[in-house]
Amino acid sequence: MSHYTPDNPIETQVLDGQALAQKIRGELASEVDSLVASGHRPPCLSVVLVGDDPASRSYIKGKQRACGRVGMDSIERLLPATTSEKELLHLLSELNADDGIDGILVQLPLPEAISASRVAAAIDPAKDADALHPITAGRLLAGTAELISCTPLGILAALDHHGIQMEGQNAVVIGRSQIVGKPISLLLQQRNATVTMCHSRTRDLPAVCREADILVAAVGQPRMVQADWIKPGAAVMDVGVTEVDGKLVGDVDFEGADGIAGLITPSRRGIGPLTITMLLRNTLHAYRSRKNV
Ligand code: NDP
Repeated sequence: MSHYTPDNPIETQVLDGQALAQKIRGELASEVDSLVASGHRPPCLSVVLVGDDPASRSYIKGKQRACGRVGMDSIERLLPATTSEKELLHLLSELNADDGIDGILVQLPLPEAISASRVAAAIDPAKDADALHPITAGRLLAGTAELISCTPLGILAALDHHGIQMEGQNAVVIGRSQIVGKPISLLLQQRNATVTMCHSRTRDLPAVCREADILVAAVGQPRMVQADWIKPGAAVMDVGVTEVDGKLVGDVDFEGADGIAGLITPSRRGIGPLTITMLLRNTLHAYRSRKNV
């Protein structure tokens, strides 16, 4: 693992996020099948979109397709861009009260006039498939969460799939967002890694990264993490996705990391398919907890 020299590169493994997502989705589909075979209705995710942003529309279609493929139902609620916060909160209270709905996801970003944090706090924590409610975040902090942010769950699945040891390892997380940086830091710490959280004010970020056995980049700055920031043999989880000249580019210089990292995730077919899969996992968990099955 640490015998790297420029003349003796490491054989970097590249995560096939699509294949791993298919495997996990197969397991979820079998669980749904057995529930339905024993007389229960399938779990149902409600997806709410405000406005008609084409990227958001395509994301929610992808999420609904993924639900259908594992035998789950999904219901979309499309609201015009002129929807007020009050109207959206009213819809959420209806969805919270609807016993036929197990998971609720409000697609972000929301129009400027609507507060994303008030919306997140209006979702019943028992149906919080995207794990954005403050109670869900608190449970993660306490180590008692069942519903966990989807991207961090995807990162753990990738590390586990590749047999990456976390206990006692140095993990460095770049980015401290509610949806990725903070939760993955907590999860890595719960798996007994020694975690350093970095952000835009971190001093000498390259030097901090060079200590990382596990490096998670969730920034949104294309190719910010250079080859010489990477410890030979490290597991590099690149969450960032930025469109550059019509192509999706990650936060890590993928080509530069190849031959140095032990494991790396590509920006296409990497963490993205796992994120959607974990939304299905959360919906199934929410269903099981609510229905006690
Ligand atoms: P945010 O955009 O909310 O925050 C970015 C974080 O990066 C902040 O904490 C910021 O620090 C930090 N940062 C910005 N510039 C630097 C810098 N130069 N050096 C160090 N840290 C810096 O993060 P998200 O988690 O929402 O998104 C991050 C990326 O991940 C985006 O590209 C997004 O598209 C992608 N993403 C991909 C997903 C997937 O499924 N593949 C899912 C979710 C996100 P500070 O706090 O100091 O401002």
